Amino acid sequence: MESIVFLGIQGSGKGTQAKLLSKVLNFQHVNIGDLFRFHIARQTELGTKVKAVIARGELVSDDLVFELIQASISADVKGIVFDGFPRTMLQAKYLTEHYTVRHVVFLKLDESEAMVRMCARRNCPSCHTDYNLISKPPLAEGVCDHCGTALVQREDDTEEAIRQRFKEFYNQTLGLVTFFEERGLLREVSASGTVEEIATKIREAIQI
Ligand SMILES: [Zn+2]
Repeated sequence: MESIVFLGIQGSGKGTQAKLLSKVLNFQHVNIGDLFRFHIARQTELGTKVKAVIARGELVSDDLVFELIQASISADVKGIVFDGFPRTMLQAKYLTEHYTVRHVVFLKLDESEAMVRMCARRNCPSCHTDYNLISKPPLAEGVCDHCGTALVQREDDTEEAIRQRFKEFYNQTLGLVTFFEERGLLREVSASGTVEEIATKIREAIQI
């Protein structure tokens, strides 16, 4: 099955761009973070394991990730846009063995800009709408546009936890970038600019 992979530091808009591209191509969008949250919210066995790991600021094991992916992919999809996967070399090898990777879009953004964007994220605990105080603020300060609930930061969005994730991201991504570059799959795109500007640059980079 065909797949396109998004790599990028958190705050690079990777999730938004992966979702947009999946709609354009009519591919299934597989966001690993969403898969984790889905299982945590339903308190499944996998979800309970994932929750404990994330609370410690660590990364979820490869086997657990493969299990979550296998459980989530629909049999009749045309292709997949992976978002938040792979994160390790073992995952990258698993990916190339199980899927035909067409492009790996690497969204580049410097760490200080990514931190500012990450610390501005808010979420409605009631209807789960996402906000960003910089790029997508609520109409009234601190409350959800749709249901009026007070907005919160995600448990794993503290500055310390974000820094830890950045560190892990750089440690692991360097190897992945080389791995995909050697296979001629890497497409580097700057993640500065508006959502539409970045989307245009991505479409140019993968020639669609
Ligand atoms: Zn709400």
